[in-house]
Amino acid sequence: MSDVLRSRDLIEALGIHGLSADVARCVEEVGGELRAMQTEHGVEFAAMLDARTGASLAPYLRGTATSVITEPHLRSMVPGREYVQVHSHPTATTFSIDDIAILFDYYPSIRSTVVVAAEGWWYVMSAKPGADHYPMRTVYQAYRRAWEHLELGFLVAIDEGRTIENAAALNLHRAIWRTIAGDLSFLYHEVEADIK
Ligand SMILES: [Zn+2]
Repeated sequence: MSDVLRSRDLIEALGIHGLSADVARCVEEVGGELRAMQTEHGVEFAAMLDARTGASLAPYLRGTATSVITEPHLRSMVPGREYVQVHSHPTATTFSIDDIAILFDYYPSIRSTVVVAAEGWWYVMSAKPGADHYPMRTVYQAYRRAWEHLELGFLVAIDEGRTIENAAALNLHRAIWRTIAGDLSFLYHEVEADIK
């Protein structure tokens, strides 16, 4: 199986990440709520779901236009339980490096992290069970190296008018995770679903 997956079906994608169909439906429902709140208020929102039952751990958290502090959810996690973190993005952008740092720092308590983004996009990242995980600085280094390696191609494409800057930034971030996720023992999934 490839480490980087594309799909049009979130439930199927979450199944590949090891979540039951019932829990996947909870993720889809909660994500839909976060997306609607994001659209209405113009700020990011976050939820934390029990990975076995799909229940929300605590009330949703409200962030700013560009981030959401998930500390209160992280503090409320019960030792020995596993969780799925879900948060909204204002655009169709994938994970930031800081989003993945949280997954990394709290693995295995957080087993998967999900971004519900604009234009029907979802992104799912899970640490592969049983894999050796690298120090976070290795993840940062890999991210920076991939950025440096890939950025030029995107800048040239903008220069030549083959893409516009916003689209290039979106695709650059996706390309970075596609490039490095497998080597870092992450399973990365991009889902372009119809908005429900
Ligand atoms: Zn984020």
